Amino acid sequence: MDLSNRTILITGSSDGIGKVLAIEFSKLGSNIILLGRDSSKLDQVYDQLDCSFKSQKHLILQADLALLDNESAHEILRAITEEFISLDGIIHNAAILGSMTTLEDYELSRWDEVLNINLRAPFLLTKTLKTILERSKLPRIIFTSSGVANIGRAFWGAYSVSKFGIKGLAEIFANELETTTSIKVFNFDPGATQTKMRASARPAENPQSLKTPNELVSCYLWFFSKESSESKENYFEYADLSKKVTST
Ligand code: NDP
Repeated sequence: MDLSNRTILITGSSDGIGKVLAIEFSKLGSNIILLGRDSSKLDQVYDQLDCSFKSQKHLILQADLALLDNESAHEILRAITEEFISLDGIIHNAAILGSMTTLEDYELSRWDEVLNINLRAPFLLTKTLKTILERSKLPRIIFTSSGVANIGRAFWGAYSVSKFGIKGLAEIFANELETTTSIKVFNFDPGATQTKMRASARPAENPQSLKTPNELVSCYLWFFSKESSESKENYFEYADLSKKVTST
């Protein structure tokens, strides 16, 4: 798949799934905008990005999504506009797990942090960057779901609530944008994947029993394909999408 001249913003691209997507998408020619809170980790990822396509360039945006407000969201818009003509996609990937505890024991400050990073920031970034996405020929927004977005389970607290919220946010944006723009909105549950977050959530699990982030790449690529423009569905789980992608 040729992604040259496509510019893609990946939040939480300093580690885990986001980091792998950044590296793999760059190999296909994308201009990558790395967004994360830790500039030294972002620098390390930047150094691993492929830059062999003509006029390919990448950008680092250091931002703590817990603190994102209108002003900093507009600074992000300005920084992107200065470097790129359009934005072809946002992968809303950054998230934190928060505390694994009962709601009764959940610290309010932790609750707010999880909701700010996992739900409020994707809302604010999407509404702020809509104008530059509209300049793309095949614009995409990909939200990230989870198995605890559909069923409330004890101890998953704010993380689960944030992913229920993402479900609503993705559906509302999809519904609002499909009539007025060509922006296609998806919500994707990557399923159990070998990352730092998964290890914190399930410390007793053998990570080797899980798929690696690299195994997700073909699913994420499908979202950027012409074929996905025809999709009537907006929500996908890894098990289903990976089958669909391998059968086509
Ligand atoms: P990781 O913890 O490995 O990576 C999360 C990324 O988000 C890191 O780059 C992290 O930065 C970044 N991030 C966290 N907080 C902030 C912040 N305040 N501002 C900016 N960036 C921030 O998680 P995964 O790769 O596992 O998860 C990626 C997505 O996939 C998440 O949305 C998660 O909910 C979802 N998911 C993951 C599953 C799994 O099994 N792994 C299963 C289902 C869904 P830093 O490097 O500084 O920590």
